[in-house]
Amino acid sequence: MKIGVLALQGAFIEHEKKLIECGAEAFEIRQRRDIERSFDGLILPGGESTVIGKLLHELELMKPVRERIIGNMPVMGTCAGLILLAEHIAADDTVHIGTMGITARRNAYGRQLGSFHTTAQFKEIGEIPMTFIRAPYIEDVSTAEILAEVDGKAVAARENNQLALAFHPELDDSTAVHEYFLRMCR
Ligand code: GLN
Repeated sequence: MKIGVLALQGAFIEHEKKLIECGAEAFEIRQRRDIERSFDGLILPGGESTVIGKLLHELELMKPVRERIIGNMPVMGTCAGLILLAEHIAADDTVHIGTMGITARRNAYGRQLGSFHTTAQFKEIGEIPMTFIRAPYIEDVSTAEILAEVDGKAVAARENNQLALAFHPELDDSTAVHEYFLRMCR
């Protein structure tokens, strides 16, 4: 299994390590010709969604990435990646890739609780560790299904080939979420 990891900014190396740990192959998507390669799944990492969104446009990657996702390429967006996938961003007119039926609330936990660690139930996986870093949460879903909640707020959702997580599964010891995503890629 070969997974492309968007490597423009943010926490992409940690995803690559996790993929290798799960026995998958990882390669970095940095420019247009990388997205034209053949692969089985795509990861949009955490980082700064405004920066990644801007770079996607500048590098002419926005359109091919969106087309790949609409064409059913399995995709996992973590944190900023969730914001990139969202069809709406609360209190913001920006739409980046916008293929997934969720509304993301950026920096949703405020300054004091900007970063924290917890464990919670994840549908079909069970209890897993979750690390949040200046994280968004999913304020609303239209067509997506909620897979996990923390304190009554949705932090993971799926819509067919798209998986969005407010936390960073690449930063914890567990490989469960990456394995779940790799099953989506099969
Ligand atoms: N706060 C960031 C944003 O709005 C997301 C943080 C992260 O990816 N760890 O894009």
